[in-house]
Amino acid sequence: MKHNVILVLLDGLSYQVAQHALGHLQAYCRAGRAALYKLDCELPALSRPLYECILTGVTPIDSGIVHNDVVRLSNQRSIFHYARDAGLKTAAAAYHWVSELYNRAPFQAARDRHTADAALPIQYGHFYYADHYPDSHLFADADSLRQQQAPDFLLVHPMNIDDAGHKFGLDSPQYRNSARMADVLLAEYIQTWLDAGYQILVTADHGMNADRSHNGLLPEEREVPLLVLGSAFSLDPQAQPKQTELCGTVCELLGVAHDKPLCRELLK
Ligand SMILES: [Zn+2]
Repeated sequence: MKHNVILVLLDGLSYQVAQHALGHLQAYCRAGRAALYKLDCELPALSRPLYECILTGVTPIDSGIVHNDVVRLSNQRSIFHYARDAGLKTAAAAYHWVSELYNRAPFQAARDRHTADAALPIQYGHFYYADHYPDSHLFADADSLRQQQAPDFLLVHPMNIDDAGHKFGLDSPQYRNSARMADVLLAEYIQTWLDAGYQILVTADHGMNADRSHNGLLPEEREVPLLVLGSAFSLDPQAQPKQTELCGTVCELLGVAHDKPLCRELLK
């Protein structure tokens, strides 16, 4: 069975804040139309290594994307590769490091910020390069791609939660409120996306700590949410998905060939 998929990556959202701050998404859970799981991110708890982990299913120590300053194309196969090679349409509204991992590195804003090239793994993209690029604009960029291109796979990747965490720390009104803001923004789109037939996953690369950073094993920097919404999900509370299984699970939903681990229990 083939489904279209939207993967929302809320950068830097700790599970402990996701648990109480996402009122709209939690309403879907309470109504039995979504499920919330807790994942431990792979190590180190850093952005670029974990974008690669989520999108390819490969851990940082195996991918070689071991810190944020490794600026090169990934040498792994990502969801974008599997989908494009199966003839599906791919799109992303995401931080420019995602463009660097799968399309072109280093990022050149004038060339890469707006991308439309069927030969690239990410065929249609809007990529930003300021951490304070407003989430409201990012979600509008993403929905524009959806409306204009009708992609089979769309990555939506806002940065304001992580940005607030680095400026104010885990235990701050600014960090928590940026998570609440992302939830309100999602409220504008979620039902439209579901009605359009998309299966939706909402997760984070890593969390945040009280030192305004993230890298290691503290629960608040390592535990991240995974919310799933859509008719293809089992919503089984016993499922124990891993971050390395997201790539294979999305490929399974898309109905494309892949060679990565997946979490079968997440799916019907
Ligand atoms: Zn960060």
